Amino acid sequence: MTLREPQGKGSRFLLIGPPGAGKGTQAARLAEFYGVPAISTGDIFRSNVSNQTELGMQAKAYMDAGDNVPDSLTNDLVRDRLSDMDAAGGFLLDGYPRTVDQVRELDAILLSHGHSLDAVIELVADPEVVIERLRLRGAEQGRSDDTDSVVRHRLEVYREQTEPLVQIYGSRGVLAKVDGIGTIDEVTDRITSALSERGLAAPESA
Ligand code: AMP
Repeated sequence: MTLREPQGKGSRFLLIGPPGAGKGTQAARLAEFYGVPAISTGDIFRSNVSNQTELGMQAKAYMDAGDNVPDSLTNDLVRDRLSDMDAAGGFLLDGYPRTVDQVRELDAILLSHGHSLDAVIELVADPEVVIERLRLRGAEQGRSDDTDSVVRHRLEVYREQTEPLVQIYGSRGVLAKVDGIGTIDEVTDRITSALSERGLAAPESA
């Protein structure tokens, strides 16, 4: 990972949306575009599971069931990851925060670094569409939490625990709602337009 100078305004984002809305795909592209690391708590957990670390062994049962891993485990790993050098100038969080408690924790982490969030992108997608996408991903990638019943449970967990975050960030004036249905390029364009409307430009075009 190339280390970059802090980019100032516009470089601390997060992507929120139901499982299967395309967060991971978009996060990778946006991170490159804005010159910040994409940090996915799901990816960090999955790599801990495959490396059979202590954290992975603690997280696995929750992940397989489609439940959120407890905040106590998740918050510590995000606090550590955001302290890494490559996140000093900005970052794109994918899949965190997922609960109201995690919002509080992220606020505290950012405050301790003297930062705040520049934008929250909500990827909006119809549940039936995401269920179908995850069915395909399950078949292609064999992710243990992409089976039909686990997917339905993950959607419920999203509705109950994560959707309230949309209102929280909406009331702070940092929320951009983006339609997540379309080609990968279309969705990326919608996101970058929504961000530039808010005065957040990619470093290359700044
Ligand atoms: P994802 O790749 O974002 O769909 O996450 C896959 C799984 O990892 C989730 O179903 C949770 O079990 C776990 N996970 C990822 N991020 C979080 C988080 N912020 N809080 C709690 N659990 C998480």
